Amino acid sequence: MFHQKSSQQLPSQHTSITVAKFGGTSVADFQAMLRCAHIIKNDSKNRLVAVSASAGVTNYLVRLSQEKISIEEQADIIEKIRAIQLNITQHLANDVEQALNTEIAILLDLLSINALKQSQQHSVKQGDSILAFGEQLSSRIFAQVLQSIGVNGAYFNVQQVMKTNSLYGKAVVDIEQLASACTELVLPKLLNQVLVTQGFIGQDGLGETTTLGRGGSDYSAALLAEALNAKSLSIWTDVVGIFTTDPRITEKARAIKEISFGEAAEMATFGAKILHPATLIPAMRQNIPVFVGSSKEPEKGGTQIKQAVESNPTYRSIALRREQILVTVKSPAMLHASGFLAQVFGILAKHELSVDLITTSEISVALTFDNPSGSTQALLTSTVVQELEQLCEVTVEHGLSLVAVIGNGLNCAKGIGQSIFQTINDINIRLICHGASANNLCFLVDDKDANNVVEKLHRELFI
Ligand code: ADP
Ligand code: ASP
Ligand code: MG
Repeated sequence: MFHQKSSQQLPSQHTSITVAKFGGTSVADFQAMLRCAHIIKNDSKNRLVAVSASAGVTNYLVRLSQEKISIEEQADIIEKIRAIQLNITQHLANDVEQALNTEIAILLDLLSINALKQSQQHSVKQGDSILAFGEQLSSRIFAQVLQSIGVNGAYFNVQQVMKTNSLYGKAVVDIEQLASACTELVLPKLLNQVLVTQGFIGQDGLGETTTLGRGGSDYSAALLAEALNAKSLSIWTDVVGIFTTDPRITEKARAIKEISFGEAAEMATFGAKILHPATLIPAMRQNIPVFVGSSKEPEKGGTQIKQAVESNPTYRSIALRREQILVTVKSPAMLHASGFLAQVFGILAKHELSVDLITTSEISVALTFDNPSGSTQALLTSTVVQELEQLCEVTVEHGLSLVAVIGNGLNCAKGIGQSIFQTINDINIRLICHGASANNLCFLVDDKDANNVVEKLHRELFI
């Protein structure tokens, strides 16, 4: 799905460049932006900054891009977005504030026009243009916050370089083009400026705005780091690094000092929200170490993600992904027959659906799909199910959570099954996947049991 590229097309390593990404809470208000600006100022290697939308803004924009929304609600949401941004700009010098507010007003007018049009003719394509406003606003403002503390920050429109296909809502980036465009348009500017650009968004060949999927700013930053052959990538967020599990689930979760690319990639893939699932792919391709830390408490350090780490424990972390769909396809024709699975996967591939877990028996196959609620697209549509029903009996179950135990050598260590399943022997396990990967053991439980399962397992495996 992601293009491969040969390393000889890359610029030689620009040892001095760090790409920094600030997430939504890091740019939520003026104080938060100011803290981030000081992080940039304190380390002159930080030359390119990719920002998310201020916290809450993308969710408002998602609501605006939905079909059933009244004119009153649209107006109300636009006012809320305006208030979030103006609350920040009011702390800047008068002339800067005025100039920014004019820009914000123009953008928000455009948004209300778009939103009105959109309510009459809904499409994911228009949704992407609406979603992009969040990052467009926050990046303009953050460049000015940098300037206000004496850093030569400048706004840069990422759409000049982040060219994608037209898969709106989850566009695929042309990384060859990104590398050459960055060399031409970004690199020269980094000599004397700190560029502030947008995470999450891109532009297709038709000139239309695209997005890389919710939480995609991490991935944008990693792609930019790769394209610039940066020395490092820093992901600044609201926690002091990657934890042994989501600290919102258990306060016993603790920060991990260093973790390998492979383990961190497994965590991201299996739902550790701290990193977008694709973030580590560009970093691994180019061997760019990634730091994850808190913009609120930069002095506390964080997690280093790199190729080789000192310890490779059997259990590293537990990730959780909610709202999974389990599809069971069953056909007596599968018994001793060949080609059935190819047909099933042919349908899924046609609809660009990616399967996470899979288990098989003589005449049936169980498959799981991610179904994130913030997604702008329905993934497993009724059309897909109907097409599968032409082939076989199909059962679809919702309300499941995927628990992934992540570590090293999990496919061959003794006693794994007992340690894990004995701990949660009062819970109904709906499906288990073990053996294919040395780095994970995954299973499905009911959504309502998920926190309890993670909490119990964490206590057993990490304390
Ligand atoms: P940002 O807006 O900075 O991108 P996110 O909300 O996307 O931040 O990701 C940070 C959040 O990820 C944390 O607040 C935490 O609740 C959640 N999270 C999930 N799993 C983990 C984990 N293993 N370690 C740390 N944080 C995690
Ligand atoms: N603003 C986008 C989102 O909320 C992208 C990001 O924050 O990474 O999904
Ligand atoms: Mg995020």
